[in-house]
Amino acid sequence: MDELLDTAPCGFLVFEDDGTISLINQTLSAWLGYEPGELAGRSLNTILSVGGRIFHQTHILPLLQMSGKAEEIYFSLKAKDGQAVAMLTNAARREKSGRSSNHCVFLPMRQRREYEDELLQAKKVADEASQAKAKFLSMMSHELRTPMNAILGFGQLLQMDELDELQAESVDHIVKSAQHLLELINEVLDISRIEAGHLEVSIESVSSHEIMSEALGMARPLAAKAGIEAKMLPGVLGERSVFADRGRLRQVLLNLLANGIKYNRPGGTVTIAAEAARKKNTDTAIDRALRFSVCDTGAGIAPDKLLKLFLPFERLGAEKSDVEGTGLGLALSKRLAEAMGGNLGVRSIMGEGSCFWIELPIADEEIASDGVSTPVSAGDELFSTQAPENEKTKAASPTVKVLYIDDSDSNVYLMQRIFTRRPEVHFLSAANGAAGLEMAQSELPALILLDLELPDMNGDAVLQQLLADERTAVIPVVMLSADAAPHQAKRLLELGAREYLTKPFEVEHLMKVVQELLEESARVNAKGA
Ligand code: ADP
Repeated sequence: MDELLDTAPCGFLVFEDDGTISLINQTLSAWLGYEPGELAGRSLNTILSVGGRIFHQTHILPLLQMSGKAEEIYFSLKAKDGQAVAMLTNAARREKSGRSSNHCVFLPMRQRREYEDELLQAKKVADEASQAKAKFLSMMSHELRTPMNAILGFGQLLQMDELDELQAESVDHIVKSAQHLLELINEVLDISRIEAGHLEVSIESVSSHEIMSEALGMARPLAAKAGIEAKMLPGVLGERSVFADRGRLRQVLLNLLANGIKYNRPGGTVTIAAEAARKKNTDTAIDRALRFSVCDTGAGIAPDKLLKLFLPFERLGAEKSDVEGTGLGLALSKRLAEAMGGNLGVRSIMGEGSCFWIELPIADEEIASDGVSTPVSAGDELFSTQAPENEKTKAASPTVKVLYIDDSDSNVYLMQRIFTRRPEVHFLSAANGAAGLEMAQSELPALILLDLELPDMNGDAVLQQLLADERTAVIPVVMLSADAAPHQAKRLLELGAREYLTKPFEVEHLMKVVQELLEESARVNAKGA
């Protein structure tokens, strides 16, 4: 028994209430640098540091006397050479023949401390790497999207001009390729964001019928071009809502529909429907989740290929066909589904077709029956991209001022070209924040277009100064930025911007926004006059 006690891989010590050490095993003596038996009969203070003595008197001893035990206490003992030795201790009070003594077990903490330090250090390095990655992504996003703004913008402008057939064809190629490249950039950035844990989703209750209609509406032109029938199947679950990020869910559904169209047979069909979610690999319905399924009548996917379906850049042989794609859509869709708390899967029968589905939690509230948006008819078009001849002559001299604050020459030139289609607009530009503020105060434009990244100050600072000055506070401000992160848009709209457009913007969309805000400005001015 003595041998076991002496050689146990933990320290053992008994001390009396007056502080005398009555027993100490060899393991603990050796950890503290003493010979076996050297400490027996000596005071506990011999192996306590000053702090340890206070801790012993104020905590450990009272605990032992009151409750009979003290557990998991981190504590420093003093070795013979004066070094502190970190210990974890459990102590218990024992009564024998009317006498009390205190029994303690000690485990050294040095190694654990080292592990903890190492862990903390590793976490710090990982956090730093993750932050660097996020910064890199945001920078890349900006650097890649800014030149795309000029390429797409000028391309779209040229498309509106009168070109001969050959020129029109070339411009179409430029715009189509630029759009393809932009899609690729967005998908790569999205995937990297998800992998770095930086993708933001904002979950809300989304009407399944509405979101399916939106995605279908967007897919229809592609279906018409490919000669594929695209339709929504009726179903009771179409009336339910799901918890999802509206934009991201639309993106996933559109991607599945586009695939159903692209990889279909001539004259085929693609359907979208809302149905009950099912338990994995079974037909058992799950109550609280909804499945959007997109089914096609294509060739189907061979079972051995299904495994690779969701790998980035994997096109499963489609790269040899003339069907365009990047091989990123499904990889991204699956990750997006998971980021929204759902999942994405597929069932495919060779020769019959494939059904891709995304399942999401059902939101409790039922959708509002009046939540139908009014379709905009062609006659409502507010800002015709090609101003009619009579209008051009009618508004020959500029009557409203629009100020654009941006330091990029090509962006300013593009915007200037866009506004040549609005002869009533006197286009002004400033290449930095200070010049922009000065011009806004002296010219009092009807609208300000403000880039977020300026050389001398941030766009948000310019916006705040515009809002703080009563002369410029009423001027609507449209923020333009290459940063597509949703939190940026939210932040700037909360700060007081009227719109947030990400570069590259759609020329038509920009024109529509400009038109609406100019009309609003005119109404405010008329009231004020
Ligand atoms: P992309 O369509 O850009 O190539 P995706 O990630 O969307 O990339 O799809 C990956 C591959 O999976 C496609 O290249 C295609 O071979 C296959 N695929 C996707 N959807 C279908 C479908 N509905 N039917 C048959 N094959 C499909």
